[in-house]
Amino acid sequence: MIEKSKAMFKRAVQVMPGGVNSPVRAFKAVGGTPLFIDKAAGSRIFDVDGNEYIDYVSSWGPMILGHNHAAICDAVTRAIQKGMSFGAPSEVELKVAEKIISFVPGIEMVRMVNSGTEAVMSTLRLARAYTGRRRIIKFEGCYHGHADSMLVKAGSGALTAGEPDSPGVSEMVAEDTLIASYNDLAWVEKLLKKNAVACVIVEPVAANMGVILPKEGFLGGLRELCSAYGALLVFDEVITGFRLGKGGAQEYFCVQADMVTYGKIIGGGMPVGAYAGKKEFMELISPSGPVYQAGTLSGNPAAMTAGFVQLEVLEQQDVYNHINRMGSMLASGLLDIINKFRLKACVNQIGSLICLFFGIETADDYQSVKKADTALYAKYFHKMLQTGIYLAPSQFEAMFVSYAHTEHDINETLNRAEHAIAKIKSEGVL
Ligand SMILES: *Cc1c(COP(=O)(O)O)cnc(C)c1O
Repeated sequence: MIEKSKAMFKRAVQVMPGGVNSPVRAFKAVGGTPLFIDKAAGSRIFDVDGNEYIDYVSSWGPMILGHNHAAICDAVTRAIQKGMSFGAPSEVELKVAEKIISFVPGIEMVRMVNSGTEAVMSTLRLARAYTGRRRIIKFEGCYHGHADSMLVKAGSGALTAGEPDSPGVSEMVAEDTLIASYNDLAWVEKLLKKNAVACVIVEPVAANMGVILPKEGFLGGLRELCSAYGALLVFDEVITGFRLGKGGAQEYFCVQADMVTYGKIIGGGMPVGAYAGKKEFMELISPSGPVYQAGTLSGNPAAMTAGFVQLEVLEQQDVYNHINRMGSMLASGLLDIINKFRLKACVNQIGSLICLFFGIETADDYQSVKKADTALYAKYFHKMLQTGIYLAPSQFEAMFVSYAHTEHDINETLNRAEHAIAKIKSEGVL
Protein backbone atom coordinates (compact mmCIF):
# COMPACT_ATOMS: atom_id res chain seq x y z
CA MET A 1 0.00 0.00 0.00
CA ILE A 2 1.46 3.31 -1.06
CA GLU A 3 -1.78 5.31 -1.19
CA LYS A 4 -0.45 8.34 0.67
CA SER A 5 2.68 8.51 -1.51
CA LYS A 6 0.48 8.34 -4.60
CA ALA A 7 -1.73 11.16 -3.35
CA MET A 8 1.26 13.31 -2.46
CA PHE A 9 2.90 12.71 -5.83
CA LYS A 10 -0.30 13.76 -7.55
CA ARG A 11 -0.21 17.04 -5.63
CA ALA A 12 3.54 17.40 -6.17
CA VAL A 13 3.47 17.25 -9.97
CA GLN A 14 1.11 20.25 -9.92
CA VAL A 15 3.53 22.46 -8.06
CA MET A 16 7.03 21.05 -8.64
CA PRO A 17 8.59 20.10 -12.00
CA GLY A 18 8.11 16.32 -12.26
CA GLY A 19 6.95 16.33 -8.66
CA VAL A 20 10.47 16.32 -7.22
CA ASN A 21 13.39 18.58 -6.38
CA SER A 22 16.03 16.36 -8.03
CA PRO A 23 15.32 14.30 -11.15
CA VAL A 24 16.42 10.79 -10.20
CA ARG A 25 13.98 10.73 -7.27
CA ALA A 26 11.08 10.67 -9.71
CA PHE A 27 11.33 6.94 -10.63
CA LYS A 28 11.28 7.90 -14.30
CA ALA A 29 13.91 5.27 -15.16
CA VAL A 30 11.98 2.43 -13.49
CA GLY A 31 8.38 3.62 -13.72
CA GLY A 32 5.86 3.96 -10.91
CA THR A 33 5.32 6.44 -8.11
CA PRO A 34 8.19 7.70 -5.97
CA LEU A 35 7.79 7.04 -2.28
CA PHE A 36 7.44 10.00 0.03
CA ILE A 37 9.62 9.38 3.04
CA ASP A 38 8.44 10.13 6.54
CA LYS A 39 11.48 9.21 8.61
CA ALA A 40 14.59 7.09 8.73
CA ALA A 41 16.67 5.36 11.37
CA GLY A 42 19.83 3.28 11.09
CA SER A 43 19.69 1.17 7.94
CA ARG A 44 15.93 1.73 7.52
CA ILE A 45 13.68 4.28 5.92
CA PHE A 46 9.91 4.52 6.36
CA ASP A 47 7.47 5.95 3.82
CA VAL A 48 4.39 8.02 4.63
CA ASP A 49 2.20 4.90 4.40
CA GLY A 50 4.22 3.31 7.20
CA ASN A 51 6.16 0.80 5.06
CA GLU A 52 9.68 -0.04 6.21
CA TYR A 53 12.63 -0.58 3.88
CA ILE A 54 16.28 -1.52 4.19
CA ASP A 55 17.84 1.51 2.52
CA TYR A 56 20.71 1.30 0.01
CA VAL A 57 20.35 4.83 -1.32
CA SER A 58 21.65 6.42 1.89
CA SER A 59 20.55 9.82 0.60
CA TRP A 60 22.91 9.12 -2.35
CA GLY A 61 25.94 8.75 -0.12
CA PRO A 62 25.99 11.14 2.84
CA MET A 63 24.57 8.75 5.42
CA ILE A 64 27.69 6.63 5.87
CA LEU A 65 26.84 6.07 9.55
CA GLY A 66 23.22 5.23 8.80
CA HIS A 67 20.23 7.49 9.35
CA ASN A 68 19.57 9.58 12.41
CA HIS A 69 22.87 8.85 14.12
CA ALA A 70 22.40 9.79 17.78
CA ALA A 71 25.63 11.78 18.22
CA ILE A 72 24.99 13.83 15.07
CA CYS A 73 21.35 14.52 15.91
CA ASP A 74 22.22 15.59 19.46
CA ALA A 75 25.00 17.89 18.33
CA VAL A 76 22.87 19.50 15.61
CA THR A 77 20.00 20.01 18.05
CA ARG A 78 22.33 21.79 20.45
CA ALA A 79 23.85 23.84 17.61
CA ILE A 80 20.56 25.15 16.25
CA GLN A 81 19.51 26.26 19.70
CA LYS A 82 22.44 28.67 19.51
CA GLY A 83 21.36 30.07 16.15
CA MET A 84 20.73 28.83 12.62
CA SER A 85 23.12 31.08 10.73
CA PHE A 86 25.35 34.02 11.59
CA GLY A 87 26.90 35.22 8.33
CA ALA A 88 30.13 35.56 10.30
CA PRO A 89 32.86 33.05 11.15
CA SER A 90 32.18 30.39 13.77
CA GLU A 91 34.56 27.92 15.39
CA VAL A 92 32.93 24.79 13.99
CA GLU A 93 33.89 25.83 10.41
CA LEU A 94 37.47 25.97 11.51
CA LYS A 95 37.18 22.58 13.19
CA VAL A 96 35.80 20.98 10.02
CA ALA A 97 38.62 22.43 7.91
CA GLU A 98 41.22 21.21 10.41
CA LYS A 99 39.63 17.77 10.51
CA ILE A 100 39.58 17.41 6.71
CA ILE A 101 43.21 18.53 6.51
CA SER A 102 44.22 16.04 9.20
CA PHE A 103 42.48 13.18 7.34
CA VAL A 104 43.66 13.79 3.81
CA PRO A 105 47.31 13.77 2.75
CA GLY A 106 48.36 16.79 0.68
CA ILE A 107 45.49 19.13 1.51
CA GLU A 108 46.42 22.44 3.14
CA MET A 109 43.31 24.60 2.79
CA VAL A 110 39.57 24.10 2.48
CA ARG A 111 36.70 26.33 1.31
CA MET A 112 33.21 25.26 2.32
CA VAL A 113 30.27 25.69 -0.05
CA ASN A 114 26.68 24.39 -0.09
CA SER A 115 26.75 21.54 -2.62
CA GLY A 116 29.01 19.33 -4.67
CA THR A 117 27.95 21.24 -7.77
CA GLU A 118 29.23 24.47 -6.28
CA ALA A 119 32.47 22.84 -5.20
CA VAL A 120 33.14 21.62 -8.75
CA MET A 121 32.12 24.89 -10.36
CA SER A 122 34.43 26.87 -8.10
CA THR A 123 37.32 24.46 -8.63
CA LEU A 124 37.03 24.79 -12.40
CA ARG A 125 37.13 28.58 -12.08
CA LEU A 126 40.22 28.29 -9.92
CA ALA A 127 41.93 25.91 -12.34
CA ARG A 128 41.26 28.28 -15.23
CA ALA A 129 42.54 31.25 -13.25
CA TYR A 130 45.68 29.41 -12.14
CA THR A 131 46.62 28.11 -15.58
CA GLY A 132 45.23 30.93 -17.72
CA ARG A 133 43.65 28.23 -19.92
CA ARG A 134 39.99 27.69 -20.86
CA ARG A 135 39.53 24.06 -21.69
CA ILE A 136 38.67 21.21 -19.37
CA ILE A 137 38.77 17.45 -19.82
CA LYS A 138 36.05 15.31 -18.28
CA PHE A 139 35.18 11.65 -18.78
CA GLU A 140 31.98 10.38 -20.33
CA GLY A 141 29.67 8.94 -17.73
CA CYS A 142 31.29 10.87 -14.87
CA TYR A 143 28.94 13.21 -13.05
CA HIS A 144 30.21 16.38 -11.47
CA GLY A 145 27.01 18.18 -10.59
CA HIS A 146 24.91 20.38 -12.85
CA ALA A 147 27.19 23.34 -13.62
CA ASP A 148 26.88 24.23 -17.33
CA SER A 149 30.36 23.18 -18.34
CA MET A 150 29.91 19.73 -16.78
CA LEU A 151 26.63 18.97 -18.55
CA VAL A 152 28.41 17.77 -21.62
CA LYS A 153 28.78 14.20 -22.78
CA ALA A 154 30.71 12.59 -25.56
CA GLY A 155 29.68 12.38 -29.15
CA SER A 156 31.39 9.47 -30.85
CA GLY A 157 33.79 11.93 -32.44
CA ALA A 158 35.00 12.58 -28.93
CA LEU A 159 38.28 14.14 -29.92
CA THR A 160 36.28 17.13 -31.04
CA ALA A 161 34.59 19.50 -28.63
CA GLY A 162 31.54 18.30 -26.73
CA GLU A 163 27.88 18.88 -27.41
CA PRO A 164 25.70 20.25 -24.63
CA ASP A 165 23.77 17.58 -22.72
CA SER A 166 20.94 19.88 -21.78
CA PRO A 167 19.14 22.69 -23.55
CA GLY A 168 20.17 25.96 -21.97
CA VAL A 169 23.87 25.10 -21.95
CA SER A 170 25.44 27.30 -24.59
CA GLU A 171 27.63 25.79 -27.25
CA MET A 172 30.37 28.20 -26.29
CA VAL A 173 30.50 26.69 -22.82
CA ALA A 174 30.25 23.13 -24.14
CA GLU A 175 33.09 23.76 -26.58
CA ASP A 176 35.49 24.21 -23.72
CA THR A 177 34.63 20.82 -22.25
CA LEU A 178 36.55 18.00 -23.91
CA ILE A 179 35.34 14.46 -23.35
CA ALA A 180 37.54 11.41 -22.84
CA SER A 181 36.71 7.79 -22.17
CA TYR A 182 37.12 6.49 -18.60
CA ASN A 183 40.11 4.19 -18.19
CA ASP A 184 41.61 5.32 -21.51
CA LEU A 185 44.86 7.21 -20.97
CA ALA A 186 45.83 7.41 -24.66
CA TRP A 187 42.66 9.36 -25.34
CA VAL A 188 43.48 11.86 -22.61
CA GLU A 189 46.98 12.33 -23.94
CA LYS A 190 45.67 13.04 -27.45
CA LEU A 191 43.41 15.75 -26.05
CA LEU A 192 46.19 17.25 -23.94
CA LYS A 193 48.52 17.37 -26.94
CA LYS A 194 46.04 19.26 -29.09
CA ASN A 195 44.57 21.66 -26.54
CA ALA A 196 45.66 24.02 -23.79
CA VAL A 197 43.85 22.34 -20.90
CA ALA A 198 43.29 23.95 -17.49
CA CYS A 199 42.38 20.73 -15.69
CA VAL A 200 41.38 17.11 -15.96
CA ILE A 201 38.46 16.33 -13.66
CA VAL A 202 37.68 12.73 -12.76
CA GLU A 203 35.70 10.67 -10.30
CA PRO A 204 38.53 8.46 -9.02
CA VAL A 205 35.94 5.70 -8.76
CA ALA A 206 33.15 6.45 -11.21
CA ALA A 207 30.02 6.06 -9.10
CA ASN A 208 27.44 7.82 -11.22
CA MET A 209 27.26 5.28 -14.07
CA GLY A 210 26.80 2.40 -11.70
CA VAL A 211 30.17 1.71 -10.11
CA ILE A 212 33.23 1.63 -12.39
CA LEU A 213 36.66 1.01 -10.94
CA PRO A 214 39.74 2.74 -12.28
CA LYS A 215 42.01 0.26 -14.03
CA GLU A 216 45.45 -0.32 -12.56
CA GLY A 217 47.60 2.67 -13.49
CA PHE A 218 44.76 4.86 -14.79
CA LEU A 219 44.79 7.44 -11.99
CA GLY A 220 48.59 7.40 -11.71
CA GLY A 221 48.77 7.87 -15.47
CA LEU A 222 46.46 10.87 -15.27
CA ARG A 223 48.75 12.32 -12.61
CA GLU A 224 51.77 11.98 -14.90
CA LEU A 225 49.97 13.37 -17.94
CA CYS A 226 48.65 16.38 -16.04
CA SER A 227 52.09 17.19 -14.69
CA ALA A 228 53.65 16.77 -18.13
CA TYR A 229 51.15 19.05 -19.87
CA GLY A 230 50.71 21.64 -17.12
CA ALA A 231 47.07 20.84 -16.40
CA LEU A 232 45.70 20.50 -12.86
CA LEU A 233 44.41 17.11 -11.80
CA VAL A 234 41.07 17.43 -10.01
CA PHE A 235 39.64 14.47 -8.11
CA ASP A 236 35.91 14.82 -7.63
CA GLU A 237 35.62 12.98 -4.33
CA VAL A 238 32.04 13.99 -3.61
CA ILE A 239 31.25 10.26 -3.32
CA THR A 240 34.63 8.64 -2.62
CA GLY A 241 35.80 11.22 -0.07
CA PHE A 242 35.70 9.75 3.45
CA ARG A 243 34.02 6.63 2.03
CA LEU A 244 36.96 4.67 0.60
CA GLY A 245 38.74 5.53 3.81
CA LYS A 246 39.67 8.58 5.86
CA GLY A 247 41.99 9.86 3.14
CA GLY A 248 39.57 9.11 0.30
CA ALA A 249 40.69 8.00 -3.15
CA GLN A 250 43.97 9.91 -2.99
CA GLU A 251 45.11 7.77 -0.09
CA TYR A 252 43.45 4.57 -1.35
CA PHE A 253 45.13 4.69 -4.76
CA CYS A 254 48.28 6.57 -3.63
CA VAL A 255 47.74 9.31 -6.20
CA GLN A 256 47.96 12.98 -5.29
CA ALA A 257 45.53 15.31 -7.04
CA ASP A 258 46.08 19.06 -7.23
CA MET A 259 42.55 19.94 -6.18
CA VAL A 260 39.82 17.85 -4.56
CA THR A 261 36.08 18.41 -4.32
CA TYR A 262 33.87 17.08 -1.55
CA GLY A 263 30.20 16.97 -0.63
CA LYS A 264 27.77 14.36 0.64
CA ILE A 265 29.55 12.72 3.63
CA ILE A 266 31.15 15.93 4.94
CA GLY A 267 27.67 17.38 5.55
CA GLY A 268 26.32 14.44 7.53
CA GLY A 269 23.04 14.80 5.62
CA MET A 270 23.00 18.60 5.53
CA PRO A 271 23.55 20.56 2.28
CA VAL A 272 27.34 20.93 2.09
CA GLY A 273 30.21 20.88 -0.36
CA ALA A 274 33.88 21.81 -0.15
CA TYR A 275 36.93 22.21 -2.31
CA ALA A 276 40.44 21.83 -1.11
CA GLY A 277 44.06 21.70 -2.12
CA LYS A 278 47.50 23.14 -1.57
CA LYS A 279 47.91 26.78 -0.49
CA GLU A 280 49.52 27.55 -3.84
CA PHE A 281 46.08 27.06 -5.44
CA MET A 282 43.70 27.87 -2.61
CA GLU A 283 45.21 31.25 -1.82
CA LEU A 284 43.99 32.46 -5.21
CA ILE A 285 40.45 32.38 -3.79
CA SER A 286 38.89 35.61 -2.53
CA PRO A 287 39.49 37.31 -0.17
CA SER A 288 43.12 36.16 -0.11
CA GLY A 289 43.29 36.17 -3.92
CA PRO A 290 41.42 37.49 -6.97
CA VAL A 291 39.23 34.46 -7.85
CA TYR A 292 35.78 35.38 -6.60
CA GLN A 293 33.64 32.81 -4.82
CA ALA A 294 31.17 33.42 -2.01
CA GLY A 295 28.12 31.99 -0.24
CA THR A 296 25.55 33.45 2.17
CA LEU A 297 25.09 30.15 3.98
CA SER A 298 28.54 28.64 3.36
CA GLY A 299 29.92 27.06 6.51
CA ASN A 300 26.49 27.13 8.10
CA PRO A 301 26.89 26.21 11.78
CA ALA A 302 24.23 23.47 11.81
CA ALA A 303 25.62 21.85 8.67
CA MET A 304 29.20 22.16 9.90
CA THR A 305 28.24 20.56 13.20
CA ALA A 306 26.64 17.59 11.43
CA GLY A 307 29.71 17.17 9.25
CA PHE A 308 32.16 17.58 12.08
CA VAL A 309 30.52 14.96 14.29
CA GLN A 310 30.22 12.53 11.38
CA LEU A 311 33.95 12.94 10.65
CA GLU A 312 34.73 12.51 14.33
CA VAL A 313 32.87 9.20 14.44
CA LEU A 314 34.69 8.08 11.29
CA GLU A 315 37.94 8.79 13.11
CA GLN A 316 37.07 7.13 16.40
CA GLN A 317 35.19 4.01 15.42
CA ASP A 318 36.04 1.13 13.20
CA VAL A 319 33.60 2.19 10.51
CA TYR A 320 35.60 1.30 7.40
CA ASN A 321 36.27 -2.33 8.34
CA HIS A 322 32.59 -2.84 8.93
CA ILE A 323 31.21 -1.15 5.81
CA ASN A 324 33.85 -2.80 3.60
CA ARG A 325 33.05 -6.21 5.05
CA MET A 326 29.31 -5.68 4.53
CA GLY A 327 30.05 -4.45 1.00
CA SER A 328 32.03 -7.59 0.17
CA MET A 329 29.35 -9.82 1.66
CA LEU A 330 26.67 -8.15 -0.41
CA ALA A 331 28.71 -8.25 -3.62
CA SER A 332 29.72 -11.90 -3.29
CA GLY A 333 26.16 -12.88 -2.35
CA LEU A 334 24.82 -11.13 -5.45
CA LEU A 335 27.45 -12.90 -7.56
CA ASP A 336 26.31 -16.26 -6.15
CA ILE A 337 22.76 -15.45 -7.19
CA ILE A 338 23.89 -14.48 -10.69
CA ASN A 339 25.74 -17.77 -11.00
CA LYS A 340 22.92 -19.84 -9.57
CA PHE A 341 20.44 -18.49 -12.11
CA ARG A 342 23.06 -18.25 -14.89
CA LEU A 343 22.19 -14.62 -15.37
CA LYS A 344 24.06 -12.44 -17.80
CA ALA A 345 25.08 -9.83 -15.25
CA CYS A 346 28.05 -8.59 -13.27
CA VAL A 347 28.80 -6.98 -9.95
CA ASN A 348 31.31 -4.17 -9.41
CA GLN A 349 32.33 -3.40 -5.85
CA ILE A 350 34.86 -1.33 -4.02
CA GLY A 351 34.44 -1.11 -0.26
CA SER A 352 30.90 0.00 0.51
CA LEU A 353 30.02 0.93 -3.10
CA ILE A 354 28.34 -1.84 -5.05
CA CYS A 355 26.54 -2.11 -8.38
CA LEU A 356 24.74 -5.07 -9.92
CA PHE A 357 24.59 -4.60 -13.69
CA PHE A 358 22.06 -6.65 -15.65
CA GLY A 359 22.68 -7.78 -19.21
CA ILE A 360 26.44 -7.17 -19.42
CA GLU A 361 29.42 -9.24 -18.32
CA THR A 362 31.91 -6.45 -17.72
CA ALA A 363 31.48 -2.81 -16.85
CA ASP A 364 34.61 -0.71 -17.17
CA ASP A 365 33.56 2.39 -19.08
CA TYR A 366 30.52 4.30 -20.27
CA GLN A 367 30.25 2.41 -23.56
CA SER A 368 30.00 -0.98 -21.80
CA VAL A 369 27.61 0.28 -19.15
CA LYS A 370 25.28 1.80 -21.74
CA LYS A 371 24.43 -1.73 -22.91
CA ALA A 372 23.04 -2.73 -19.49
CA ASP A 373 19.49 -4.12 -19.44
CA THR A 374 17.60 -1.26 -17.83
CA ALA A 375 14.19 -2.88 -18.36
CA LEU A 376 15.29 -5.90 -16.34
CA TYR A 377 16.72 -3.63 -13.65
CA ALA A 378 13.34 -1.88 -13.44
CA LYS A 379 11.59 -5.23 -12.85
CA TYR A 380 14.14 -6.21 -10.20
CA PHE A 381 13.89 -2.78 -8.57
CA HIS A 382 10.10 -3.05 -8.15
CA LYS A 383 10.23 -6.64 -6.86
CA MET A 384 12.82 -5.57 -4.29
CA LEU A 385 10.82 -2.51 -3.31
CA GLN A 386 7.71 -4.64 -2.75
CA THR A 387 9.65 -6.83 -0.33
CA GLY A 388 11.09 -3.89 1.60
CA ILE A 389 14.42 -3.21 -0.06
CA TYR A 390 14.95 0.38 -1.20
CA LEU A 391 17.39 0.46 -4.11
CA ALA A 392 18.25 3.42 -6.30
CA PRO A 393 15.53 3.88 -8.94
CA SER A 394 18.10 3.57 -11.74
CA GLN A 395 20.52 0.96 -13.02
CA PHE A 396 23.26 3.56 -13.11
CA GLU A 397 23.61 4.27 -9.41
CA ALA A 398 25.58 2.65 -6.62
CA MET A 399 24.25 0.74 -3.64
CA PHE A 400 25.62 2.52 -0.56
CA VAL A 401 26.26 0.40 2.51
CA SER A 402 26.38 2.21 5.84
CA TYR A 403 27.79 1.51 9.29
CA ALA A 404 24.23 0.78 10.42
CA HIS A 405 23.79 -2.13 7.99
CA THR A 406 24.15 -5.42 9.86
CA GLU A 407 24.99 -8.90 8.66
CA HIS A 408 21.34 -9.66 9.18
CA ASP A 409 20.35 -6.78 6.85
CA ILE A 410 22.70 -8.07 4.17
CA ASN A 411 21.43 -11.65 4.46
CA GLU A 412 17.83 -10.46 4.32
CA THR A 413 18.66 -8.38 1.24
CA LEU A 414 20.29 -11.34 -0.48
CA ASN A 415 17.35 -13.64 0.35
CA ARG A 416 14.94 -11.17 -1.12
CA ALA A 417 17.15 -10.59 -4.17
CA GLU A 418 17.18 -14.32 -4.80
CA HIS A 419 13.40 -14.46 -4.54
CA ALA A 420 13.05 -11.45 -6.82
CA ILE A 421 15.21 -13.04 -9.50
CA ALA A 422 13.44 -16.40 -9.14
CA LYS A 423 10.11 -14.66 -9.57
CA ILE A 424 11.22 -12.71 -12.62
CA LYS A 425 12.54 -15.96 -14.06
CA SER A 426 9.26 -17.78 -13.38
CA GLU A 427 7.38 -15.01 -15.18
CA GLY A 428 9.39 -15.96 -18.24
CA VAL A 429 11.16 -12.65 -18.68
CA LEU A 430 14.63 -14.10 -18.29
C1 LIG B 1 26.56 14.13 -6.13
C2 LIG B 1 27.76 14.48 -6.88
C3 LIG B 1 28.05 15.80 -7.26
C4 LIG B 1 27.08 16.92 -7.04
O1 LIG B 1 26.84 17.19 -5.70
P1 LIG B 1 25.49 18.00 -5.31
O2 LIG B 1 25.63 18.20 -3.85
O3 LIG B 1 24.36 17.10 -5.69
O4 LIG B 1 25.49 19.26 -6.08
C5 LIG B 1 29.25 16.06 -7.85
N1 LIG B 1 30.14 15.09 -8.10
C6 LIG B 1 29.91 13.81 -7.77
C7 LIG B 1 30.94 12.78 -8.02
C8 LIG B 1 28.70 13.46 -7.18
O5 LIG B 1 28.44 12.18 -6.89
